[in-house]
Amino acid sequence: MIVERIWTGNSYRNYNYLIVCPETGEALAVDPLDHERCLGRARERGYQITQVVNTHEHGDHTGGNAAVIAATGAKLLAHAGAKRIPGVDRGLCAKDVIRVGKSVELEALDTPGHTMAHVCLLSHTDTPALFSGDTLFNAGAGNCHNGGHPAELYETFAQQLSALPDHTQIFPGHDYIENNLRFTLDREPDNQKASELLPQVKEHDPATSLISTLGLEKQMNTFFRLQSPAVIARLRERYPELGERPDAKAVFLKLRELRNTW
Ligand SMILES: [Zn+2]
Ligand SMILES: [Zn+2]
Repeated sequence: MIVERIWTGNSYRNYNYLIVCPETGEALAVDPLDHERCLGRARERGYQITQVVNTHEHGDHTGGNAAVIAATGAKLLAHAGAKRIPGVDRGLCAKDVIRVGKSVELEALDTPGHTMAHVCLLSHTDTPALFSGDTLFNAGAGNCHNGGHPAELYETFAQQLSALPDHTQIFPGHDYIENNLRFTLDREPDNQKASELLPQVKEHDPATSLISTLGLEKQMNTFFRLQSPAVIARLRERYPELGERPDAKAVFLKLRELRNTW
């Protein structure tokens, strides 16, 4: 499997992706908002885009569909419940498999929270790769104020994302790592990984920056660090009602709430 990460350089800081079968050159485009860059990259490398997947219905993920489909005749895939996306050819449910060419298999994960019709794609490869849309970001989690629910986002993190192997590579829908690491350090000032990474990501070029793994996220992403005594102690300064041994869900919900105004 070849992954082409395409940095859009737009103000929303979107990443688009091409997932390519090395044997046939067939490609699947994930959220190809910057259709010119996506089509250009495919042309340069001799790939044929045959499918487009939208991780969810927000315009900064669907806005390139029409142009890519007009240029390539690709089929459009999205969550089966994503009724706001026009022209979907295939609605995706949990565990559905998407084939790209001869050699690539991607599994759809039903991952509500950021919106209620959000899919992540998990590759069936020796090194698994997760295309996480706006559910999981480097060092952060998606917000829930445009059609989502924080409690569902917690369940997605706890039941599905946390259970993936630590060497799973993470390919998020946006580059928000710098701000997210600052949030980690605000919540957990002695987080060593976050302190180490922050100077590296300042002024980094998102086109060539680090690709994280789930194992690394568990070290630097506050939304995976719900049992950390430091995170809990600091959160209790703000929300004393949490008590000394809050459950993971209560911690997640308070962190998500705090991040909305941070
Ligand atoms: Zn979104
Ligand atoms: Zn987005």
